Amino acid sequence: MIIFPDLPNVEVEGVEGAEEITLTLHTTSPTASCPSCGTASSRIQSRYTRTLRDLPSVGHPIRLIMHVRRFFCKKSTCAQKIFVERLPSLCHPHAQRTKRLQEALCQLGFRGGGQAGADVGSDLGISGSRDTILRLVRRSPQPAISEPRIIGLDDWAHKRRLRYGTLICDLERSQPIDLLPDRSVETVSVWLKKHPSIEIVSRDGSSEYASAIKKGAPQARQVSDRWHLIKNLAACVSVQIAQTFAQLRRAKEQRPAQTQAVQQAQQARQAERMARYEHILELQKQGMKSGEIARTLSYEPANSSTVDRYWKHPLCSQETTTSTSH
Ligand SMILES: [Zn+2]
Repeated sequence: MIIFPDLPNVEVEGVEGAEEITLTLHTTSPTASCPSCGTASSRIQSRYTRTLRDLPSVGHPIRLIMHVRRFFCKKSTCAQKIFVERLPSLCHPHAQRTKRLQEALCQLGFRGGGQAGADVGSDLGISGSRDTILRLVRRSPQPAISEPRIIGLDDWAHKRRLRYGTLICDLERSQPIDLLPDRSVETVSVWLKKHPSIEIVSRDGSSEYASAIKKGAPQARQVSDRWHLIKNLAACVSVQIAQTFAQLRRAKEQRPAQTQAVQQAQQARQAERMARYEHILELQKQGMKSGEIARTLSYEPANSSTVDRYWKHPLCSQETTTSTSH
């Protein structure tokens, strides 16, 4: 019972095969419960054989030949007169694969999709067609989720540039929670009305979504999603940069006139400094000391060092002269 730890009432009759291994089994429990009324019965009506595919073992595909029984229901008022014994830990009623094989195929479907799941499964010896995998994925129970509070709406493409649906994500759990077949105001607002817990909806700039939220979730605050916010910001910055470059270009074209004016001002200041220097020279020739010259030229405070600097550097920097002369 290593292969079937959950089946205490099953006995292996035989094992055959080389490439594919076939296990023949039969059930041993003395009674079985009616699936309709739950009454246990030991009255066997007939026997029949079920064939099931199971997970491979050490690279070998496994097939199960199960001999099971039909029972009479003992409860006279039960609508189910005859029932087949069930093996709930092994397989679903009427299934051709064990539960654990179905689970493996379902996981392949969730991870890789129908065809990719079938291809990977084939390599691993887990047989199941694309359609089988997709059917199992669709049939798998939806995870229980609490009502969303903050959601995001965005397009998803059935067919790029031709047909779009709406993808709804729970932004607090970072999980997609639904797909809608289109992005019309009607479809989206109907969905929103079914989820009155929604407080905030993040969306793109589309007016359709804005209208749908207004109609279906008027209590919710609408916010621009991060992707579109950055996209819009980038567009604004591009426009601003283009305008600034245009201004710089215009300024460059106007520069000769400005340069001329600046040059004239500089020449005027230089001429003034030269005149002052010559005046100092004149006064020194007359025998005046630096302090006297400073007072004569009304430097405030009377500062002979300024006169000395003029003497040494008659065309010294503009900053020095403007800071010492008034
Ligand atoms: Zn019954």
